[in-house]
Amino acid sequence: MTVAIFKFKDNYDESIWNILKTLNLEDKIFGYDTVVVKPNFGCLHLGYPQQIIESIATDPQLIVALVKLLKNNGVRRVIVAESGMYGVKIDRAYEGLGLTKSIPEAGGELYNIDQGEFEKVKIDEIEVNLSKVLSDCDFLINVPAMKTHILCTVSLGAKNIALGSIDFGSKAKVHREGIHRFIALMAEKLNPGLTITSGIVSHEYLGPTFGLPRKTNLLIAGDNVISTDSVTATIMKIDPREVEHLKIASENGFGKVDIKEIEIKGEKLKNVIISDFVPCCRIEEAGEHYSRALGIDGKMDICGTDYCSGCLNATVGVLWVITHYTEGETKPFTLVIGTDGEVPKNALGKVYIVGDCQAKNKEKGEFLPGCPPNGQAFYKIFVDQCLTEEAKRKAIEGQAKRKASNDRRLPPMKHTLKYY
Ligand code: SF4
Repeated sequence: MTVAIFKFKDNYDESIWNILKTLNLEDKIFGYDTVVVKPNFGCLHLGYPQQIIESIATDPQLIVALVKLLKNNGVRRVIVAESGMYGVKIDRAYEGLGLTKSIPEAGGELYNIDQGEFEKVKIDEIEVNLSKVLSDCDFLINVPAMKTHILCTVSLGAKNIALGSIDFGSKAKVHREGIHRFIALMAEKLNPGLTITSGIVSHEYLGPTFGLPRKTNLLIAGDNVISTDSVTATIMKIDPREVEHLKIASENGFGKVDIKEIEIKGEKLKNVIISDFVPCCRIEEAGEHYSRALGIDGKMDICGTDYCSGCLNATVGVLWVITHYTEGETKPFTLVIGTDGEVPKNALGKVYIVGDCQAKNKEKGEFLPGCPPNGQAFYKIFVDQCLTEEAKRKAIEGQAKRKASNDRRLPPMKHTLKYY
C-alpha cells in the first residue's frame, strides 16, 4: 500500500503523470478496456460562490486531464460517472462545470448514475441499489475532494466511492441503518485501484457544504482508498484512528489507519500537515455552530446526532436563505432530527420534528414528513410561524425578487459573506 503526496504546481498533466509513475500504475492502467472515473460533484449546488464550489467539488480540470491522458494512451472507454445528493441534478452540475463540452472533447463520456442501471447488492444486512457502471468496469479511479464532514468527520475517498455509487433511496436507507460500517464495506467491495484526492482547494470547518474554502495545493494519491484517506486525514490534522469508517475498514484488514504502516512517497508527511486546519464541529454542537454561521446565534437548537444531508439541506439549507433576507431576525426554534433526536424538556421555542426518521415523535411538534422533507414547504411553514410581520415581509419579498430575476445563486450564509 503506497500513498504519494504532491504539491500541485499548476500543471494537471504533469501532476497525473507523476502520480501514475510514483505508484507504478501507468502501464497497468493503460492496458484496460473500460476505466470509470468517479469524481465528487454530488453536493454541488451551482448557486454557491466560485470559491466554495472549488472547495466542495473535485477540481474539474483534474478530471479532464485524467480523461485525456487515459484516452491518449490507449484506454478504449473512459467514463466519468457521478450521482447527486438530494436536490442536486448531476447533469446540471456537469453543464455548470463545463464538462458537457470538455469531457467529450477529451475523448471521454459523461454518465449520470442517478438515471443509469443498478443492481441489488447486500452489504452486511443492508440491501442497496449499486450503480452497474461502477461494479462492471475494468478499473475504477476515485477522485474525491478534500473535505470535513459533520457526520463522518471526513468526506474523502471511501465516502465518495461508497455513497456516490448508490441511488438516493439507498443513501437514505444507509443513513438509517449504519453509515460508517456501510462506507467501510462498500469501499472494500468496489476497491478503486487508484484514489487521487483533489486537495488543491479544500473545505474546512462545517463540511461537507456549509464550511469554508482553503487553498491547500495538494494532491494525495494511493492504491488503497483507506490508506490514502488516512494520510489525507492526517494532513487535515484529523487522527484517522478516530474516523469511524476508516477504523472499521482497517480492523477488517482493508487498508491502514496507522500512518507508520503506510509507505509514503513524494512530499514528506510532516512537511505538509496543515497545523491550523479547522475540523468540523462535533455533531452534538451543530446547533451552536450552524446558528453562528447563519447569523442567528443562540436562536436555533439541533437535537439529534444521526441524520443525513437530505434533512440538513431541507432545514438548515432553507434557513440559510431565509436568515439572509431577514438579516438574522427570527424567533427561537428547535430542530429534532435523525434517528436518535429527542425533544428536550425545555426545548428552545417552536419545535420542528424533521423527516421520516422522526415519525416516532411526530406528535411532539410541527412534523415535517418525508425522506427528506420538502424544503419549500418548510420555507413557508417557518416564515409563517417563526418570523415577525416585518421579517416575514422581507423573506417573502426577497424570495419573490430572486425568482423573478431568475437568479439561481444562493444568497450568502453569513459566515461566507466575504466570498460573495
Ligand atoms: S428522514 Fe432525513 S435523516 Fe432520515 S434517512 Fe431520510 S433524509 Fe436521512
